[in-house]
Amino acid sequence: MSISRLTAALVLSLTIGATIPAGLYAQGAPGDQAKAPQLQHFDPDSADKALDPCNDFYKYACNKWLTANPIPADQVYWSTGSGLELWNENLLRETMVAASANDPKRAPVQQKIGDYWAACMDESGIEAAGLKPLQPELARIAALKSKKEITLEIAHLHHVFPGTWQYGDNQTDSPFFGFTGQQDYDDASKVVAQLDQGGLSLPNRDYYLKTDDKSKEILGKYRAHIQKMFVLAGEPETQAAADAGTVIELETAMAEAQMDNVKRRDPKNINNKMTLAQVRELTPSIDWDAYLKAVKAPASYHYIVTSPDFFRAEEKLLAQHPLDHWQAYMRWQVIHSAAPYMNKAVVDENFDFFARTLAGAEQQRPRWRRCVRAADRDLGEALGQAYVDRAFPPDSKARTIQMVHSIEAALGDDIQSVTWMSPATKEQALVKLKAIEDKIGYPSHWRDFSSVMVTRDSCLHNVAQATSFEFERWVAKIGKPVDRGEWTMTPPTINAYYDPQLNTINFPAGILQPPFFEATMDDSVDYGAIGMVIGHELTHGFDDQGRKFDAHGNLRDWWTAEDAKQYDDHGKCISDEYTQDVPDAGPGVKQNGLLTQGEDTADNGGIHLALNALEASLKQQGKSLDDKGPDGWTYRQRFFLSNAYSWCANVRPQIASLIVTTDPHSLPVFRIDNVLSNMSEFQQAFGCKAGQKMVRANACRVW
Ligand SMILES: [Zn+2]
Repeated sequence: MSISRLTAALVLSLTIGATIPAGLYAQGAPGDQAKAPQLQHFDPDSADKALDPCNDFYKYACNKWLTANPIPADQVYWSTGSGLELWNENLLRETMVAASANDPKRAPVQQKIGDYWAACMDESGIEAAGLKPLQPELARIAALKSKKEITLEIAHLHHVFPGTWQYGDNQTDSPFFGFTGQQDYDDASKVVAQLDQGGLSLPNRDYYLKTDDKSKEILGKYRAHIQKMFVLAGEPETQAAADAGTVIELETAMAEAQMDNVKRRDPKNINNKMTLAQVRELTPSIDWDAYLKAVKAPASYHYIVTSPDFFRAEEKLLAQHPLDHWQAYMRWQVIHSAAPYMNKAVVDENFDFFARTLAGAEQQRPRWRRCVRAADRDLGEALGQAYVDRAFPPDSKARTIQMVHSIEAALGDDIQSVTWMSPATKEQALVKLKAIEDKIGYPSHWRDFSSVMVTRDSCLHNVAQATSFEFERWVAKIGKPVDRGEWTMTPPTINAYYDPQLNTINFPAGILQPPFFEATMDDSVDYGAIGMVIGHELTHGFDDQGRKFDAHGNLRDWWTAEDAKQYDDHGKCISDEYTQDVPDAGPGVKQNGLLTQGEDTADNGGIHLALNALEASLKQQGKSLDDKGPDGWTYRQRFFLSNAYSWCANVRPQIASLIVTTDPHSLPVFRIDNVLSNMSEFQQAFGCKAGQKMVRANACRVW
């Protein structure tokens, strides 16, 4: 997946969706199925009036909800959006169950959805098959005779198992390295080939390299986990122990060679263009011509190599290590990627390390939720059509479009009025704003899944078929004009994103639901929740990363030198503010404000834009922000209460620590308290005074 696209995405309750592989949750807990999913609707009475809003507004607005909604045992993060997640998943389940009747008259798309469901839910069939679905893959690896043959096996693995963390913000989990089609940074009208660093199974390089006790303990548990998985896959104990050591050694060496996630945020650092001859020279142990032929890659104008150092290091590793080390590494990649779709013993062991140890989950999710998530990932636009029909009426779309337009107008006014930017740069910024394309709800053309072969026989086979389809779909784009209509999120996704290379904002139908959006609520509630999200995505076009792309999506500097310096100074205020201790994630855990700067800038800008748009809307109705709403709160107060309510979340410390290490988004408490303490408009709403915690002495403001 393209890097810039996904790092720019706003991740809401799915901060975790981005961080934990969806397939981890498999069996058990049938009780959950019986519960009718409840949507959370904004309720101003959720504010805890016994607390001081000027001390910790997040606590004030969320306290009653947080107390009444502890984290269920099978969850690691539980928010006001979690009810929506379950509600969305339930609609998808109903669609799949209806399609699963083995009726020869089903439409082809129904056959795919229904048979995918039947195979995934067939717990006893999966149990009876045991390791069988894995055997052909292990046999391929065992049959390799020389290191020369590794190249074609990499191409095969990239088809079938390009990585379990594929919805995260990088490709660090693709075996050996990542390969895909990607819009060219300098000419956004073209798609070129991209070679990315990869090879890891832990969330990012820090997990291999940090030397504190906690990190060493986790790495030790990871080693034990690999060993157990090898044994479950049929290896004798002693060989499994040796192989686990080899995997750790190779992955750690790859982690050392990877560019870190802060450096990767600057597109200039990853825009390294090479010819095919240069790629061949960089890693001669890989037969690039054979690889490109095997993955059916069309000719590329050039090759973007995000991290040449990584490929240099991989060349050394390939030269140093014997074939049997690489066979162990590949066996691990196969077992690890297939684990969520295997028999209970493998699923349980996978859960134990990746969900319990890494994320803090106590219990596995019920199987139906795991199957819904996998289907949404693998057949999302097929499954999503029914979701849109049932959950996203035309008037929801019309109201969202109207809000988007009003928030775009607010950003236009904001750009005109900032004092630190010259008229020349403002003019360019307004051109870029005008060119942003708004995509609401679902794509205008649905993806064609007719070539994906889905059967009722094997869950793992279906996942591999869909994975292969998706990999080839991206690779086939190379050398072709860009398809501007594509979405990288499925319709039921509770998330939104800005794509800097397409210059589009995208709001899937899945987030245009309570508590983020509700057509029957008054403006103050909707602008505080989804309005902030819309403003957030728009601001991404002008954050420290997005500002480097122009109206057409090209990586081109359209800023005067003085304005760029001014921007950096304003941005530094934000990154300094968010470089902070995170006690909820454990003692000594510190957030890196440079990693989260773009998201924090978008949070801060987004709420300003939403508030200004609300003010304009109220004015049209002859009202003002400080008029009283239906329940005694002013519209301004309701706006901030709704904003906080949409982010209330109980978070386990393990997942908090994982988010702080790997995710460009701040934790919910900071997305409220840091942002609002920068705003005089908030302080005015609740009468906060200088010296109180919600009044920051050195307030930051970019947009
Ligand atoms: Zn974002």
